[in-house]
Amino acid sequence: MAQIRIENVRKEFGAFTAVQSSTFTVEDGEFFMLLGPSGCGKTTTLRMMAGLELPTSGQIYIDGEEVGQRPASQRDIAFVFQMFALYPHMNVRKNMSYPLLSQGMPRAKIREKVAEIAKILKIEDLLERPVGGLSGGDRQRVALGRAIVREPKAFLMDEPLGALDAEFREHMAEELRSLHDRMGATTVYVTHDQLEAMQMGDKIVVMNHGVVEQFGVPQQIYDWPATKFVAQFIGSPPMNFLDFDGVVARGATNVMVGDANFVIPQHLTGAQGSLTLGVRPEHVQLNDAASYRGEVLGQEYLGTTQIVTIRSANGVLKARISSETPVRVGEQVGLELDARKLTIFDAGTGRALLSAANQEVLNHG
Ligand code: ATP
Repeated sequence: MAQIRIENVRKEFGAFTAVQSSTFTVEDGEFFMLLGPSGCGKTTTLRMMAGLELPTSGQIYIDGEEVGQRPASQRDIAFVFQMFALYPHMNVRKNMSYPLLSQGMPRAKIREKVAEIAKILKIEDLLERPVGGLSGGDRQRVALGRAIVREPKAFLMDEPLGALDAEFREHMAEELRSLHDRMGATTVYVTHDQLEAMQMGDKIVVMNHGVVEQFGVPQQIYDWPATKFVAQFIGSPPMNFLDFDGVVARGATNVMVGDANFVIPQHLTGAQGSLTLGVRPEHVQLNDAASYRGEVLGQEYLGTTQIVTIRSANGVLKARISSETPVRVGEQVGLELDARKLTIFDAGTGRALLSAANQEVLNHG
């Protein structure tokens, strides 16, 4: 079990900076997600935690001890690659025993340890089978088992479910999470899939172009994105943006967007100029009495809900509403935005106008 702290960590590859200056803490026992689009620096960050890359500058602490310049072999952390890295000519037992054999553990103790982990992973009946003939899911369990038997301080996983089809992926995600809940080992997990991050993570770091955009629990990140990037990357469909020129006073209760007056949450800081109002699709309702209006451009039936696309004076937005609400393409509708859930961003910097206290909570979980 371990706490991992990354402090002002930067990684350059020649003239290219893959990780700008990251600071965050993975608490002991957490299931922690590193989330972001391809190339944002997730894997590089994970490899620096493991000691497979050394940071150009900054510190990495494991349980308070600075390990940033130490190689992987001195960190007692298990790196679980995409889980197909097994020895194909060996059976399951030998694959799982191998790390312990190379540590010099007595054979009787190895047998006991492998049996214990095989039971947790529900692969006891596979122990004598060659790994070559196993299904993808069983191979993943064996690969996990091989990492777990060593009882490392933490597990680092790089898109471990990336190669699986959607249905099986969901099943394995649930299994990994419940395995973590039983074992309680600190786990850092890289993914580009926002749904996977929201479903599995205790905390999430969202990265973009080598920068940590936000760090917090999934609900904070969903409800109060710190930047427009996070607001768009998380959620499907993503947050809607309405652009306007205006003024928001510190602690204001209302904002004028064009001719419309919207009630807003009071914890926003002040700003003026080019601003963007952000609202999630489920916080947009159609209401004939509402003065803010738009034209329905399209609708997408999703069973219990539908996504309605509407063009307003300040931009196109999507509303997630009951599929029982009748909507016609081309009609004019009134739009009501849930006042408690609106966010405003500075259009230039892309940062949310959140009070310092709120920003602190968002950035430090
Ligand atoms: P992906 O999901 O595609 O792996 P990622 O967020 O994990 O993306 P990284 O693998 O950390 O991203 O890569 C970040 C950037 O650093 C990329 O532009 C990549 O090309 C670059 N990079 C990574 N490793 C090296 C290296 N050894 N030498 C040069 N550039 C590298």
